[in-house]
Amino acid sequence: MMNIEENISLKKLNTFGIDVKAKYFGRFSNTDELQEALSCEPATRNPRSGILILGGGSNILLTKNVDGIVLKNEISGIEKIKEDEDHIYVKAGAGENWHSFVMHCLENNYAGVENLSLIPGNVGASPMQNIGAYGVEIKDVFDSLEAFDTEDNRVVVFDKEGCDFGYRESVFKRQFKGRFIICSVTYRLSKKPVLNTSYGAIEAELEKMKVTERNIRSISQAVINIRSSKLPDPKIIGNAGSFFKNPEVTDDHFEKLKNEFPNIVGYKLENGNIKLAAGWLIEQCGWKGYRKGDAGCHEKQALVLVNYGNAKGSEIFDLSTEIVNSVNKKFAVQLEREVNII
Ligand SMILES: Cc1cc2nc3c(=O)[nH]c(=O)nc-3n(C[C@H](O)[C@H](O)[C@H](O)COP(=O)(O)OP(=O)(O)OC[C@H]3O[C@@H](n4cnc5c(N)ncnc54)[C@H](O)[C@@H]3O)c2cc1C
Repeated sequence: MMNIEENISLKKLNTFGIDVKAKYFGRFSNTDELQEALSCEPATRNPRSGILILGGGSNILLTKNVDGIVLKNEISGIEKIKEDEDHIYVKAGAGENWHSFVMHCLENNYAGVENLSLIPGNVGASPMQNIGAYGVEIKDVFDSLEAFDTEDNRVVVFDKEGCDFGYRESVFKRQFKGRFIICSVTYRLSKKPVLNTSYGAIEAELEKMKVTERNIRSISQAVINIRSSKLPDPKIIGNAGSFFKNPEVTDDHFEKLKNEFPNIVGYKLENGNIKLAAGWLIEQCGWKGYRKGDAGCHEKQALVLVNYGNAKGSEIFDLSTEIVNSVNKKFAVQLEREVNII
């Protein structure tokens, strides 16, 4: 029998370190336990909105106590399920730590996820927002996933098309929000690595490291070095990484902005629009290093909102609203939150 606890603090289970309580809390490590949890009274009382699935808690902002049930996904296991001439297909349980999975791939010489080293969180959340870093996204190595459908009470398979991945987006964040619980993800990794060092910072780091042979391990190490020096460690200061997405504007809009702000940073997308650096926009509005109580905007990375200790989720949310409004006022650009607001 699964153990359902009551009034559990979630402070240690979210990287923002927000101290709210879950009225009910349980952990599941297979689909039978998940089904058992979903049929318990607190879960059936309010099926859609009353259940919160938790992975590593590194992409959520908890703004209030959770009145329903929080279920931590602890499905484990990593196995090679098939291979062909060029690829290895590896299935990982949703509860596996993402970076440990990346390390497993490196040890076995499976290429494709090295640029995604050190992203916090678990395997199960990786397709949710199509995690990405340094020129690579999950969609580039994604094969399929298994998810439990809470409406039909059965496990279903999604292929890449079915997930409709976009920039920090998938069907699981949009039309199917709250419906599917991801149980495992199968990745298609390469036997013949195609090294991606298109991000200048990786090249510079490899040179600094005096690397003689470029391979998936040296790239992973370069990414780890860059990330450790740039991003605040949630163990030391609460945060959920980039709080906002980088916004897109039309070419016309960009030209107008460039006239007024010649230093504006942007790069052209395939659809003709221009992607702007949200961090730069926020910094120009004077928020970098701002602090009000324990809620703040990081002093080195304006895109990262932080909890200096005892901030409430609502205080961080209010700060994010002020930032959205000021960026809109100055640049006529609407920022969208990347972090899931609960
Ligand atoms: C310092 C730092 C750096 C970061 N850098 C990056 C980065 O470079 N690129 C990037 O893309 N992200 C980045 N992130 C964000 C975060 O690491 C990713 O979004 C990660 O995938 C979240 O995983 P998680 O297990 O912690 O998800 P959680 O925060 O636990 O959950 C996120 C959302 O997904 C839902 N969910 C979680 N698991 C499941 C499941 N199995 N089934 C259904 N729903 C589920 C939750 O209900 C919630 O809505 C960073 C975060 C931090 C703190």
